[in-house]
Amino acid sequence: MKYCKKCVMSNTRPRITFDEEGVCNACRYSEEKFNKINWKAKWKKLEAFCNRYRAKDGSYDCIIPVSGGKDGSYVAWRMKHDLRMHPLCVTWQGNGLATDIGRKNLENFVNSGFDLIAVIPNGRVYRKLTKKGFVEFGDPFLPFIFGQMAAPVRIAINYGIKLVVYGEDPEIEYGGSIKTKNLPVFDGEYVRKFLYSEQNVDKYIDKEISLNDLKPFMFPSEKEIESKGIKLIHFSHFDLWDPYKNYELAKEKCGFRARKNRSEGTFTNYASLDDKLDGFHYYLMWMKFGICRATSDAGHLIREGRLTREVAIKLVKKYDGEFPKKYFKFFLDYIGLTEKEFWKVIEKWRNRNIFEKVNGKWRVKNPIWKQQCENEDKNKNRK
Ligand SMILES: [Zn+2]
Repeated sequence: MKYCKKCVMSNTRPRITFDEEGVCNACRYSEEKFNKINWKAKWKKLEAFCNRYRAKDGSYDCIIPVSGGKDGSYVAWRMKHDLRMHPLCVTWQGNGLATDIGRKNLENFVNSGFDLIAVIPNGRVYRKLTKKGFVEFGDPFLPFIFGQMAAPVRIAINYGIKLVVYGEDPEIEYGGSIKTKNLPVFDGEYVRKFLYSEQNVDKYIDKEISLNDLKPFMFPSEKEIESKGIKLIHFSHFDLWDPYKNYELAKEKCGFRARKNRSEGTFTNYASLDDKLDGFHYYLMWMKFGICRATSDAGHLIREGRLTREVAIKLVKKYDGEFPKKYFKFFLDYIGLTEKEFWKVIEKWRNRNIFEKVNGKWRVKNPIWKQQCENEDKNKNRK
């Protein structure tokens, strides 16, 4: 495992690249983002774009996926108040999976002046997909990921709305493929390749789940999207994406509240608060890639100049890979597994190239803090 010399991200993150100086492409993009890119010009482009789609009679002219979290709230607010658009917001939720704070934040968001459609898919299907995602594909969060991308486009088709505005382009912002760096408009191929991790939803068909059951989870075809003249854009291509700034605006304008205490597995309290299964998505990421939620949070905070790498490494050491205890019992009941069966699945996904067992305990073979110490030793020897 190698780590970026500027942030704390590792080369195990899918599709990330490192340059000859050992710096990841998320850090390189953020240098451009803060120093080179002319954001005023980009915003003008978004204004021009919106001018083409804005409804004159106040009817809905764009769809914005939201969860009540800081990012969707930020985008919705700016589209409505700074660009004078008329958004219909869409949220996608597994039945009974919203956390208390997530529910409250969504309520506050609607109260701050937005129309919302909540799509709550068939509970039996969602539960089966969650279990299948966890056991067979190593991610219980897949049904959420599928639906939160697909549902807004399906609503756009049904309502005859031609613009869907997603938040950030995660490939560009957090390290991944740079294919879409200059492409604010994206298509179904991007979704299937990067966000669905090349998984087809129809892989889930079995004795208990039919093709019809899966329809709400499937991203509409290119033909369907094109024939309706729908455009999908990432807001982060037009406005400097800064999650902490989003948090501040959502707090001030949309009634967004952070947790009182930090979230499990990290040191922050204002990101990914809405879903009870979220922690297991991150825990599986830990098994597969040896990096977890604290690494992700620290990465962007370093790039934004809000955290030093030195402090970040301590935080990563302390919190990365922390087990999500809070909803463990709930999760087991939800997918109908015993604790023993759960751990068997977890071990199936543990990457043996990344983890080693020492005195009966698993640990990352080559953690960032160890590499940091080795570098310090080398420097001392040189002196
Ligand atoms: Zn980096």
